[in-house]
Amino acid sequence: MKKLTDFNYTHVLVLGMAKSGTAATKLLLASGIDVRVNDMKASEDDEIVRTLTSMGAEVIVGSHPLSVLDDIEVIVKNPGIPYENTIIEEAQNRNIPIITEIELAGRLVEESIVGITGSNGKTTTTTLTEAMLASSNQPVKVAGNIGTVATDIAGSLAEDERLVLELSSFQLLGIEKFKPKIAILLNIYEAHIDYHKTFENYKNAKYAIFKNQTSEDYLIYNADDPNLIDAVKHAKSIKVPFSVNRKLEGGAWIDEESIYFKDEKIIDRKMIVLVGIHNLENILASVAAAKLSGASNEGIQKVLTTFSGVKHRLQYVDKVNGRFFYNDSKATNILATQKALSSFEQPIILLAGGLDRGNEFTDLIPFLKNVKVMVVFGETADKLKSLAEDAGIPVVLKVTDVMNATEKAYQVSEEGDVILLSPACASWDQYRTFEERGDMFIQAVHTLV
Ligand code: ADP
Repeated sequence: MKKLTDFNYTHVLVLGMAKSGTAATKLLLASGIDVRVNDMKASEDDEIVRTLTSMGAEVIVGSHPLSVLDDIEVIVKNPGIPYENTIIEEAQNRNIPIITEIELAGRLVEESIVGITGSNGKTTTTTLTEAMLASSNQPVKVAGNIGTVATDIAGSLAEDERLVLELSSFQLLGIEKFKPKIAILLNIYEAHIDYHKTFENYKNAKYAIFKNQTSEDYLIYNADDPNLIDAVKHAKSIKVPFSVNRKLEGGAWIDEESIYFKDEKIIDRKMIVLVGIHNLENILASVAAAKLSGASNEGIQKVLTTFSGVKHRLQYVDKVNGRFFYNDSKATNILATQKALSSFEQPIILLAGGLDRGNEFTDLIPFLKNVKVMVVFGETADKLKSLAEDAGIPVVLKVTDVMNATEKAYQVSEEGDVILLSPACASWDQYRTFEERGDMFIQAVHTLV
């Protein structure tokens, strides 16, 4: 287990225990640093509280007294805690720096990191990049927003191993010296305004991914995104653009037939399993990162000819009697369903519906051109039914749930159809999570065989 060597703080407050706070505490203690932990929700009897106390941390649970800040030189904040928290506001008044656990991970393995951020496509690009390196026999691990805690993985990373990190804006807001060797900026849309307050703040959090990069580091960015073109002008990094619209001498690009990195052809587009222009963007970004990290074209090809998508994100499920089934249960809003619908040229049977947030669905209408049947369910079933009728979709069926929708869709389908679950709604009216909803769909597809 690696230890922190260039960390100049000796008294640290870890705010929010969770998985990342616990990992940060253990690392700091192992590095000989005094740690105080404060968590509102935990209780004295929790196993983890006892463990951290026995390891030497001072653990304060159940409230956030301002006294937790006494003698503190830096705070390691859980990314989920908002900046309006009273402790954080007071820390800002006292000019105490606020970082996240990502900063600590960066101190352990700076030269090995491929950091990936953007408003959309992070998990897909992270998964692709890791897979391309692994299938090229390059040692690699993955962590960050994708589920595993960065310091845990960084602590045991081998010398020659790469660490592919999915990074949220919340994590990036709390960095000081953190810099990935290779950074990817996928896109930027207005999001998470509740947390960041303004689009400007949110953009700046994302752009922090390259703020410490030097002329020896790489910045891969989407050259079709005007905000990003503007932002990277300030980067010192070696810039590696990607585009799905035009040839780029110094980056990753496509033409009608193929995908290229610089002047080298990497793969024929018709060999790729993933669908959708947005996924081509994710592919170009990961091809660039993989090539810069030493991946082979064969390794990259192996991934792109087999990878069917991250589960529930326009994931190719199966072909049953000539019908193609796709699970896009993660599409909990209209924008995501628009993307999914734009990804196919074949006739589509769309399965949609779920929690009613009170919004209208009229923005879907221009994307329904290829939809020949719509099967609706959940709280929004009636709204979607009348929308589909207004849009002139020939067959509209109202059913009880996803299982039922899958059966009905199959019954009315023909060879060559795409049967797509892309609900445009959250799942909580009928399912605990979008994952549970997607699993129901997969299960239903498999019972058709
Ligand atoms: P994230 O981890 O950033 O949430 P995911 O890879 O999990 O991203 O994809 C979530 C959804 O975002 C997908 O179902 C798709 O609708 C959309 N998406 C994925 N990649 C992109 C992209 N490059 N540009 C725009 N939208 C995308």
